[in-house]
Amino acid sequence: MKIKCDFCKTEYNTDDVSVGPVQCAICGNTWRVAPPPRKNTWLMFFASLCALLSAIIFAIAVITHHQATTATRGPLVAAVSAVDTTTDENGATHIVVSGTITNVSDEIYGMPDLIIVSTDDDGRVLAQQKFMPSATLLDSGASVEFKHILSPQPAGVKKISAHLAEFQVPSGEKE
Ligand SMILES: [Zn+2]
Repeated sequence: MKIKCDFCKTEYNTDDVSVGPVQCAICGNTWRVAPPPRKNTWLMFFASLCALLSAIIFAIAVITHHQATTATRGPLVAAVSAVDTTTDENGATHIVVSGTITNVSDEIYGMPDLIIVSTDDDGRVLAQQKFMPSATLLDSGASVEFKHILSPQPAGVKKISAHLAEFQVPSGEKE
C-alpha cells in the first residue's frame, strides 16, 4: 500500500499494513498510518447505496402522495412515474406508460385491472385502455410496477393518467 507523510507529503510504498506509527525519512515527522482503505470503500459504497435507496423511496412516496390527493382514494393507489415513447420494427412510435400500484391499506387485496386514460388540455377523455394486472394479489404496504405500451393514440393527447378498475373488496367487508 501507499502511505504519505502528512507533513512533507513524501510518499512511500510499504507492504507492512500495520497501523502503528511510522517516521518520515525526509522530515522526521511521526504519524499513524490509516488502515487499508478497502473497508472504508465498502462502507462508502454501502452508505451511498442507502442514500440512493432512500431517495428512490422518497420519490415514490412523493408520487404516491401526489396521486392520492388527485385521484381516487382507496386501498390501492395507481401512480404514473414515466411516460416514454418506443419505436417498433415498423417504425411506428408508441407511448409507454410506467408506474406503480401501491396497497396503502392494512389488508391484502386482489389486483384490479389498470385503466390508462388519455385526456386533452381540457381534461376530456380521448382514449382509455385496460390492462390485466401482472400480479394477482398485493400485500399490505406492497407495491408493484407496471409498464404498458399503449395502442396508437388520437391527436391532442396532453395527459396520461392511471386508474384502477373496481378492486375486489375482501370478503366480509362488502359495502
Ligand atoms: Zn515527511
